[in-house]
Amino acid sequence: MNKFEALGLSDVIVKAITEMGFETPTPIQEKTIPELLKGNTDLVALAQTGTGKTATFGLPLISLIDFNSRDTQALIMCPTRELCMQITRDLQSYTKYIKDANIVAVYGGASIDTQTREIKRGAQIVVATPGRMNDMIDRRRVNLSHVRFAVLDEADEMLNMGFKEDLDTILSQTPEEKNTWLFSATMPDEVLRISKNYMSNPIEITAGTKNAGNVNIDHVFYVVHARDKYPALKRIADSNPDIFAIVFCRTKIETQEIADKLIKDGYNADALHGDLSQSQRDHVMKRYRSRSLQMLVATDVAARGIDVQDVTHVINYTLPDEIENYTHRSGRTARAGKTGVSIAIINMKEIGKIRIIERIIKKKFTEGKVPTGFEACEKQLFSLVKKIHDVEVNEKAIEQYMPKIYEELQDMSKEDIIKRFVSTEFNRFLEYYRNAPDLNASGSKERERSFDSAPGITKLFINLGELDSLDTQSMKEYISEVSGVDIASIVNIDVKSSFSFIEVKTEAAEIIQGTFKNARYNNRSVRIESRGAASGGGERRGDGGRSGGSDRRRSSGGGGNSYGERRSYGGRSDRGGDRGERSDRGDRSGYSKSSGGERGYGEKKSYGDSGGERKSYSDRAERSSSKSAPSESSSGGDRKSNFSREKRPRRKF
Ligand code: AMP
Repeated sequence: MNKFEALGLSDVIVKAITEMGFETPTPIQEKTIPELLKGNTDLVALAQTGTGKTATFGLPLISLIDFNSRDTQALIMCPTRELCMQITRDLQSYTKYIKDANIVAVYGGASIDTQTREIKRGAQIVVATPGRMNDMIDRRRVNLSHVRFAVLDEADEMLNMGFKEDLDTILSQTPEEKNTWLFSATMPDEVLRISKNYMSNPIEITAGTKNAGNVNIDHVFYVVHARDKYPALKRIADSNPDIFAIVFCRTKIETQEIADKLIKDGYNADALHGDLSQSQRDHVMKRYRSRSLQMLVATDVAARGIDVQDVTHVINYTLPDEIENYTHRSGRTARAGKTGVSIAIINMKEIGKIRIIERIIKKKFTEGKVPTGFEACEKQLFSLVKKIHDVEVNEKAIEQYMPKIYEELQDMSKEDIIKRFVSTEFNRFLEYYRNAPDLNASGSKERERSFDSAPGITKLFINLGELDSLDTQSMKEYISEVSGVDIASIVNIDVKSSFSFIEVKTEAAEIIQGTFKNARYNNRSVRIESRGAASGGGERRGDGGRSGGSDRRRSSGGGGNSYGERRSYGGRSDRGGDRGERSDRGDRSGYSKSSGGERGYGEKKSYGDSGGERKSYSDRAERSSSKSAPSESSSGGDRKSNFSREKRPRRKF
């Protein structure tokens, strides 16, 4: 016997759901369907989306409806139009083999007359959003006096959206003698109140832990400076070439902005929010469902109830205002037993929020490390190799060109051809990520460990960094110029905000340390020491730089030590203010106001120069844009670079 039959469902229903690929009931279906089939049960179910909750209420419901009658016997209320359409579609699929079944969706933004006509034709089940249903009741377009089943789906969200009064009005139009089934992802007091008011002795069923998230979801957070959020998003996307994601933003404006940037930068992305017309929203959803879009940038409300299979990542570009919304967001991935990743891109101040979410979902986050540019390139490379391996060759179409292609490539070895072939893509990514900065803002031990170097290589610490208008390339040039060592001896540089780690060939390390003994950079001593020795004390602490950063914030400025001086460089604090801090405001305007006439690092004269003033951030940005290296971070914030005017290599999806 089929497992669904064993739960008490009829052949026609089992036939339809088998065609939909349902083989085994999900845990909540197994527990709940037999109870609801009894036909006299009230239910409060704690269930996330993705647990199979639509079928949990839908299958018993269609078993209990009299489809020979044309009365409206069931009313399903849900928060959004998308979910309304989704539920209607699902119920229509379940009733594929039930003659005369008529299930109608009622939601705002579409013609109320058409919906009225559809109901009048004899809709046994009406699926509705509260606003439109209330409207229909006001206009006497619907008769709810025969309702025997009321289902409240995503009850918490309906209350969040302010539908409490609408729900009360609608339910008051239905007979008292009915079954009420309530589904909610979380169980705040307001939902409990509804269950008390409208139900008698409901059975309580929980799919998973109360208020807890799906166990198949990995929760990961990345800590970046606010200005690096967008570049971090791109890195995450580039490091997951097969990403199929929903990116959540808090406001419609931000949603549109991020989608626009992604589109401009060559991603298959689009926005979904309430300012779009319904046909626009439908169009976007159609593209997303058909996977023409790889990233759907959405607001919470617009994305509620979206049931799209195989969403690989949910990305919280901004954390939701209501922490509980995090559960709804992450529920878009890992549906129907699959696994998924829920990512939060946060700044340091938001770590506390992550801890609160952890308590609510009863699951720990892991702290991720934003992939380096090189890692992103690597992922793209191997994704390309896999694509080449898996591609289906259209022998017929390609056949005619092969002789010519063989002829063109005949003097190349197989290895050479492979190398060149993959390089056509790989080079573009390499170029894109050339000099890409480290985007991680947290001083996690892990990042430091990742800098362990190979034999023959010595790690050095230097108390110069981004704040000194240096990037990887310019730092290399600077060190090479001052020390006289060949630039090729400098193997790797990890530029942080106020300091950097340098990996050099061991034979060059001593020379560098020796030649830098009395070096000064813009009127400040430069300290280079071997990585292990870089600890507290000195002009700036070498403890990973974070404390240096916060000291800079606390320092009262102008005190003569290098912190005080440093604070003043980019901003106004050397002239009395203390705005020079580089906080997580995501805005560097504080840096851009330094007085004119400064000598920039861009003019090489300023290396070790003892007289010049430090360049401002805006100057630095200009300098970097005048150099050839593109910077991925450009289109994310205030930084300027060539790349803001260029497109990221577009990937075929
Ligand atoms: P829901 O929680 O109702 O949004 O369902 C999530 C997804 O799981 C939907 O696409 C359903 O079609 C699918 N689904 C529900 N129940 C089952 C089942 N027993 N077997 C396979 N897929 C299911």
